[in-house]
Amino acid sequence: MTKVIYNDYPWEEIIPAVIELVKEGHDVYQKWTCEHCGSRQSMDEANKFYTEGMCEECKKITNIQKNGCNYMLHIMLNNKHVTNEPGPKLHTVIYTIPGEGLQWQFFECMANDQDHAEEQCKNAYPACDVLWINEGTSRKMEI
Ligand SMILES: [Zn+2]
Repeated sequence: MTKVIYNDYPWEEIIPAVIELVKEGHDVYQKWTCEHCGSRQSMDEANKFYTEGMCEECKKITNIQKNGCNYMLHIMLNNKHVTNEPGPKLHTVIYTIPGEGLQWQFFECMANDQDHAEEQCKNAYPACDVLWINEGTSRKMEI
């Protein structure tokens, strides 16, 4: 067994979350851990989740459905609220709070720039990890 611990989530939790993300128009890529050599694997094709995968390192098959998996998300934001007006603009900050599970959370605020938006998110949620900041808005996802 490997000593590296990757975050994989049970299949029955991941799949409904992924279905919701895909419905929202995001691209989701499956990530999983080889049960033989412990290396981290990711699938090249968006929005396809496989129950088994062959490790690129050791060429052995892992039962992903049994072991669980995770995903990488390419977010598509709805930017219709972006304006060219001077002054603070609506920003969306995407963050997670370590230990709270797989949920990505959205923080919307009026900010002069991305640093300002991050600062406001950090003020509201000191423990958060900021993943991504964009001008504009996104509908909140329910996972
Ligand atoms: Zn392997």
